Formats: sequence, C-alpha cells, structure tokens
Amino acid sequence: MNLRKLIFTNNACYKAGRTITPKGIMVHSTGANNPWLRRYVGPDDGLLGKNQYNNHWNQDRPDGRQVCVHGFIGKLADGSIATYQTLPWNHRGWHAGGTANDTHISFEICEDNLTDAVYFNKIYNEAVELCAYLCKLYGLNETNIICHSEGYRQGIASNHADVMHWFPRHGKNMDMFRTDVKKLLVDVKPDPAPPTEDTLYRVRKSWDDPKSQKGAFRVLDNAKRCADENPGYSVFDSTGAKVYSGKNGAAYEIYTVVKGDSLWRIASAKLGSGFRYPEIKMLNGLTSDTIFPGQKLKIPK
Ligand SMILES: [Zn+2]
Repeated sequence: MNLRKLIFTNNACYKAGRTITPKGIMVHSTGANNPWLRRYVGPDDGLLGKNQYNNHWNQDRPDGRQVCVHGFIGKLADGSIATYQTLPWNHRGWHAGGTANDTHISFEICEDNLTDAVYFNKIYNEAVELCAYLCKLYGLNETNIICHSEGYRQGIASNHADVMHWFPRHGKNMDMFRTDVKKLLVDVKPDPAPPTEDTLYRVRKSWDDPKSQKGAFRVLDNAKRCADENPGYSVFDSTGAKVYSGKNGAAYEIYTVVKGDSLWRIASAKLGSGFRYPEIKMLNGLTSDTIFPGQKLKIPK
C-alpha cells in the first residue's frame, strides 16, 4: 500500500468536526470515468498532478454537494497507484447518505471505464491492504467491511450500486474481498522446522563407512571444524553428498628430501611446476627455502 495523507481541511465536513467510533468500513467507487486522484484530491502535492478545473474535494462543497470521505484510491500523475487519507479516520464522514456515516470509515476507489483488468487488480489489492490496515488500527475484522450497495440493503446507506457494478466484471465480489482482507489479518507464523535426522551433517572418512563417524552436527561450521581436526575426514550431508573435505584430509603425501633437492626441484617433479613451490612451504609451515636431506615434507596431492 502506498498510503499518503492530504486532509480536506477546506471541506465543510472536516469543519463540522464530529468524530465517530469506527465500527466498520464502507467501500465506495466514484461512478465516473476518471482514475486520476487529482480529480478528487488537491491541491497538487507534486505527486498528484494539477487539477486544471480545481474541482477537487478539498473545498467547502465539492460540486455543490455536502460530501466527503476518509480516503481515495487511484492514480498519481506518473500512473502509479496510491491511497490518500483525506479525513482523520475517526472523523464523521459524509459518504453513505444514511446512518453508516455515524459508524463507518469510508473510501472511494477512482473508477476508470471499468474494463481495464490491470488497473482493477492494482486498486483491488490496494483496497484490500487499506482495509486490513484500518482493521488492525481499530480492532475490526473482515466481517465489518461492506460496500455501499450492501449498506443500502442493510438500510444504513442510500441506494447506490457501488462497488458491485464494477467488481464482478473482473471476477470479484465483496465476499472474495473480505476473504482477501482476512488473509492479511491472520498473522502468518511458519511452523518451526522440527529437528530431524535429515538436517544433520555427518563427519566420516567416507559416506560408506558409518563406523568411522566422528559426529553428526546440525550446524555445518561445527561439522567442518570436526573434519579439520581429524585428518582424512570429510563432511557429508543427509544424502551422502560430500559438502566439505577437511583441511587435513590426507590431501598430501610424504616425501623424504634427498641430497641435491631444492623446493623448486621437488615442486617441479611432484607438482608439475617449480613455480608451485610456495604450496609446499605453506603446507609444511616453512619460513625459509632451506631444506636438508632426510627431512620429511608433505606434498599436496
Ligand atoms: Zn458510494
């Protein structure tokens, strides 16, 4: 939800200054082909764009009528969707033409020509999120949400068709709307994964040698440490795949230095290139290049 605020302080409804204890939410749609928020919300805040007719609802009697709602959903100047709060949520609005004004928070969805599915899906989701937000704010739930036409049938609003002249054109109705709000009200708490054998990392010489197992760990790093401490051991996941070879995993052979040897010559003979002699130094912890006959060196495999 892209919720913004531009309170209609010039509207006679705002100036009337009455508050309510919200008991529900009434969903309206404007009944005119004009999806732009600037038609109803103004003056321009830099996002709405300019209403060249200056006929937005932030004036005493918009279009000569006593009318005001708590919010609008529609398009910003850049075509993206936003919600504007236009009255304090607990202000008494003039939206229902009935007693719902005393109990319901109201918002208008800006209608387009009612055929654009992309626009509809965006404003539908925005409205669902707004209702979930308001429910949480006032301790309401999805059963407290009705549209204007439902309010008429309940005898608390005037005879208007919104929003049921529009939603069904895109496969939606108010029951589906309420269900979608309910989904957002349910705190999703994923079940903590129960620890099972499947999550263990095993340290063995080989997967096929279970008797060699040094341990089984839930934390991979702990399994790696164990493998490092036990030359020749590796870490296997639950499928038997080797996920780590210990640093000391017998990844070397022992070579005994003979007279005339140098690290360069040994690297050249054993590793295929004299340039690899630093690997021998590192593996054996040598600080100088000096070696002597009879010395046993680890040679990387
Ligand atoms: Zn209405």
